[in-house]
Amino acid sequence: MSRTGVVPMTTTADRISTIVDLDHVCFSYAGERVVEEVSLQIRRGAFLGIIGPNGSGKTTLLRIILGLLRTECGHVRLFGTDLTSFRDWRRVGYVPQRAAFESRFPASAFEVVMSGRCGVVGLGHRFDVYDRALALDALDIVGMAGERDRLIGNLSAGQQQRVFIARALASGPELLVLDEPTVGVDLEAQEQFYSLLRRLNRDRKTTLVLVSHDVAVIAKEVTQLACLNRTLIFHGSPEDAIASGAIEQMYRPSSLLVSHRH
Ligand code: ADP
Repeated sequence: MSRTGVVPMTTTADRISTIVDLDHVCFSYAGERVVEEVSLQIRRGAFLGIIGPNGSGKTTLLRIILGLLRTECGHVRLFGTDLTSFRDWRRVGYVPQRAAFESRFPASAFEVVMSGRCGVVGLGHRFDVYDRALALDALDIVGMAGERDRLIGNLSAGQQQRVFIARALASGPELLVLDEPTVGVDLEAQEQFYSLLRRLNRDRKTTLVLVSHDVAVIAKEVTQLACLNRTLIFHGSPEDAIASGAIEQMYRPSSLLVSHRH
């Protein structure tokens, strides 16, 4: 039920096209509520940016979507299946914050990308020609096929970032989730990075969810914005987010729920 008490009409087509469905989701760390009553639907083909100040619950929300944190209340459905019984994780790719990458281990770009196939073939199974072809294809998509034998630690921050996207793409995901992906990446590499995301979204129809605190950059790249500050303040087009004042609202200390448009 919505906040107005009206039960929204959902059709079968809506359910099929909804890849992520968060329904009144809450989460607390040690009794402190950091995500409050968030309801958000992400449709197939969307390029959604989740923005909000530091500590507003963005990473926590991503971790809930990825099944890494269990909600305290509400429901999460992925591809129409309740998260508690969802097993088809090859459909979801994840690119964590750059700081979380272990870039010093002695693996080549190709080996890092191959490790993204583990979730598909299972640990302990031998990779075959098909796995190798998909890993090479993923490196090709991100423009890193020529660097495949270089050690990951010897690549620039922007190149490492692209290799980790290729790793996430190697399982052929329909949904790609990225957490603050351009932190520490220079401006030119950022531009290449967003151009890559636009191509993935437009040409490969990959649904993208990207968390960032860089409002100015995100607002011009994505097709939808979700403004989060513990509660969901706004969900809709970047133009409406700006026009409605939702972005300013989000950075006020006591933000209230002002709008939720699809
Ligand atoms: P954001 O990604 O928007 O910066 P987070 O989701 O990381 O926000 O954090 C939301 C709130 O939860 C913050 O107040 C943060 O300090 C707190 N928090 C995050 N992770 C933990 C944790 N593992 N234990 C306790 N508190 C946490």
